[in-house]
Amino acid sequence: MSYSIAPIGFIRCAFKQRLIIPRQPQLAPAARAVLELLPPFNAPCALEGLQKVSHVWLLFLFHQSLKDKTHLRVRPPRLGGQKKIGVFASRAPQRPNGIGQSLVKLERIETGRLYLSAIDLLDGTPVVDIKPYLPWADCPSEPVYNHLASSAPKAIAVEWTAAALAQAKAHALRLAEPVVELIEQCLAQDPRPAWQKPLSTQRYGVRLWDLEVRWHYPEAELICVLEVVFPT
Ligand code: SAM
Repeated sequence: MSYSIAPIGFIRCAFKQRLIIPRQPQLAPAARAVLELLPPFNAPCALEGLQKVSHVWLLFLFHQSLKDKTHLRVRPPRLGGQKKIGVFASRAPQRPNGIGQSLVKLERIETGRLYLSAIDLLDGTPVVDIKPYLPWADCPSEPVYNHLASSAPKAIAVEWTAAALAQAKAHALRLAEPVVELIEQCLAQDPRPAWQKPLSTQRYGVRLWDLEVRWHYPEAELICVLEVVFPT
């Protein structure tokens, strides 16, 4: 038996590649997005009442992982990328039906568009449903535990070269986006695979908006942003 679902809209955001997307929502408040709704869901009546809601659940498809083979056991980055656990004990993108869920902040609504922040989604992500966050139902009152992931990942320090900071500030003005904050909040999550010990000479890079951000690790727990430039 199979069922088919279709997107109600698509995410538009800075993240053109997966490398520095936070591993969960709420970790980078500067990670903003617009959810562009498709007809008929862009009709104002479909959004009636949502103005009274601060946070929404997005149900979406991990569209860039759909072709990946689903494994019954996965290696979450949080466990160092070595230890395996069952797929249903993880939030890995490689899932039986490729469905993700993120609790994000709803900043404002315009016709057919939801302005969101604190997202963990790739640009172009197909969204299949939106639901309001219900504090009394979605936040249990009895003690809650997850002994695999009891707290947010530890952030690492991020510093800038003077040139990179000036570049980021100039692009922030051009794009009217919080470029400096977004880069700092995302890199503080340390995008490097946990098992990788970087050499200080090794350069990393990722696309963000129409830019390329490049950095390196002068020390194991320190990132230095080197450049924020148009890709060559
Ligand atoms: N909060 C969601 C959940 O728990 O279902 C997503 C968690 S998942 C660990 C987040 C990661 O999925 C991001 O860091 C990014 O690397 C990846 N990702 C985001 N959007 C994606 C997409 N459309 N296709 C494939 N991978 C995606």
